[in-house]
Amino acid sequence: VRLIVLGSGSRGNALAVSTGGHTVLIDAGFPLKVLRQRAAVVGLDLNRLAGVILTHEHGDHAEGAPGVARQARCPVYASPGTLRALSARLSRVSTVPLAAHSAVAVGPFTLTACHTSHDAAEPLALALEGPGGIRLGVAYDLGRPTSAVRFLLREATCLVVEANHDEILLRTGPYPASVRQRIAGSGGHLSNRAAADLLAELWHPGLTTVVLAHVSESCNRAELARGAVRMALQELGFAGMLVVAGQDAPLGPFDILAGAPASAPVTP
Ligand SMILES: [Zn+2]
Ligand SMILES: [Zn+2]
Repeated sequence: VRLIVLGSGSRGNALAVSTGGHTVLIDAGFPLKVLRQRAAVVGLDLNRLAGVILTHEHGDHAEGAPGVARQARCPVYASPGTLRALSARLSRVSTVPLAAHSAVAVGPFTLTACHTSHDAAEPLALALEGPGGIRLGVAYDLGRPTSAVRFLLREATCLVVEANHDEILLRTGPYPASVRQRIAGSGGHLSNRAAADLLAELWHPGLTTVVLAHVSESCNRAELARGAVRMALQELGFAGMLVVAGQDAPLGPFDILAGAPASAPVTP
């Protein structure tokens, strides 16, 4: 199973997960043109997708989804609430509603989802299971990691988890109090410390790859996010790969293998 992060942050999120020549996109939160440019950089063919899976309708996750699904002639998978929120933009796109906790086949992957705590219509965290029992968990845009999220992400080989803000930089940063409260609240985003606590709880010997995502450009820095999580995971014996996804350039591909840290990123 191969993972490419096309970009992650408040200005856009998209991940590509491939196996055996089949690719799914998780979120498509960039304009179609940007998605195409980034896919070209990493040699990804966006015309051949098994599906576009959306966590929620916010623009930084769904912006390019209708266009990319139309061009690839593939379905969009999302919660009923997300599909309703996007219905005006999803004409001529086939859609598959995702119910929490039930499994759906998307190409060679089995997809399960659960609700998250975030200020969107019906946001989801996702788990994709591929051949060989490789499990990839994705959870970003969540104010707090509920027990449903922690259960969904158990036993993962690879986790893509939000480390949105440093708590001190958020308090002293440029945002007005109302925005700060929204970000730190239960419908907002996880701090570095909350991400470290969540990942420490989810750690098990089979976890080989951790990608920190949705890192704020004004209230965080990659080294702060990585440092907080590395400290928590190293104590537990984590020897896998820990990387921080960026907003403006793709990261990967990473080959995710059970029982072995992902191969080092191939810099395009
Ligand atoms: Zn977001
Ligand atoms: Zn959001």
